[in-house]
Amino acid sequence: MVDHCPACAHVAAAPLLDDRQPLATLAWPRSEAAARAMPALPLDFVRCVDCGHVYNRAFSYDAVPYGDQPNRMFNAGVGWSGFVRRLVGRALDGLPEAPTVVEIGYGDGHFLAALAAARPGGRYVGFDPHGAQAADDALELRAALFEPASHLPELRPDLIVARHVLEHLESPLALLQRVEAAAVAHDLRPLGLLEVPCVDRLWATGRTVDLFYEHVSHFTTASFGRMLARSGAEVMAVEHGYDGEVVFGLARFGVSSQQRDHAAEAAAWRAAAAAALPTIRAQLDELAGAVVWGGTGKAAAFLNRYGLDAARFPLVVDSDPAKVGTFVPGTGQRIASRDALRGRPDAVVIVPSQWRAADIVAEMAAAGLTARQVLIEHAGRLIDFARDPHPYTREVE
Ligand SMILES: [Zn+2]
Repeated sequence: MVDHCPACAHVAAAPLLDDRQPLATLAWPRSEAAARAMPALPLDFVRCVDCGHVYNRAFSYDAVPYGDQPNRMFNAGVGWSGFVRRLVGRALDGLPEAPTVVEIGYGDGHFLAALAAARPGGRYVGFDPHGAQAADDALELRAALFEPASHLPELRPDLIVARHVLEHLESPLALLQRVEAAAVAHDLRPLGLLEVPCVDRLWATGRTVDLFYEHVSHFTTASFGRMLARSGAEVMAVEHGYDGEVVFGLARFGVSSQQRDHAAEAAAWRAAAAAALPTIRAQLDELAGAVVWGGTGKAAAFLNRYGLDAARFPLVVDSDPAKVGTFVPGTGQRIASRDALRGRPDAVVIVPSQWRAADIVAEMAAAGLTARQVLIEHAGRLIDFARDPHPYTREVE
């Protein structure tokens, strides 16, 4: 079941073709009886109303026996050969003298071999769990899936090729996004050469025979371009070959400054949060008996994250009378009225919800409640709300 658009991740789609058919290209039945006995698989082709992509909602990767037969593609036609020659030239243009090239789903290896022949001296690595065996020392063929997170830093490719692969995957966008994320993480800038069949002609010709089971996805020029853009890669070209029947794209991975910034910001925040944990726990070790203002939501998150157990921090109060008498999730303190602070001018009050601290201080003053010190968590430690610098200076409207 494919519940969202493989190209753009949109969920709404318009119905296109309902049918049941046997596998069309990967089964290779050996007798008439075997051919007639093939199970009919569900075709529920729909069109993404956002990017225009066509996909089979009822597709299941497990129903396709990739391990049984090689995916045979007819490559000897005159038109194909000329197109492949042109593509080899485009792919190698701008690569170093001895490039490292990865091909995802190399199949019979003809394209990788063509690249290696055109630019000898490079490293040519193919990934395909069911690909052909190496017949050529120039190629390094691995019977494995390509895993961007590990294979990108291992091989540091200049070029990543995926031809007639993405239309077979339930989530081609996810694969490209993982390539982009790994390229950003390891500061790599590989070129991508991606190619799929193109169904732009479906709408004008009424053709139905493109829609068979093994191709879960059918790209239009627009949906292919949208997928490349959604991956985060910089799209350099989207062009057609073979009289418009295929569409290919050249894209630069690893150049998204937005993804780089978000990943760097996340890493810095994560490191700061990890450093804050022992700092604040050590501060709390000296603060047993302090009163916590707030027992639900962000306050409950604070009590649980920093381990404010009921033995050391028995008193939790709340501004909201509706919460009084309920218990703090996880740590178990019974939430008391703020009036429990009355007559305790030496109390240290911890306010976990920093953004409400000014309001709470005003509420304490209005109710005639005083405390020795009000603490909030800021920049990885507990600070004095009245004396230390912080951004929570205004009462919340
Ligand atoms: Zn879409």
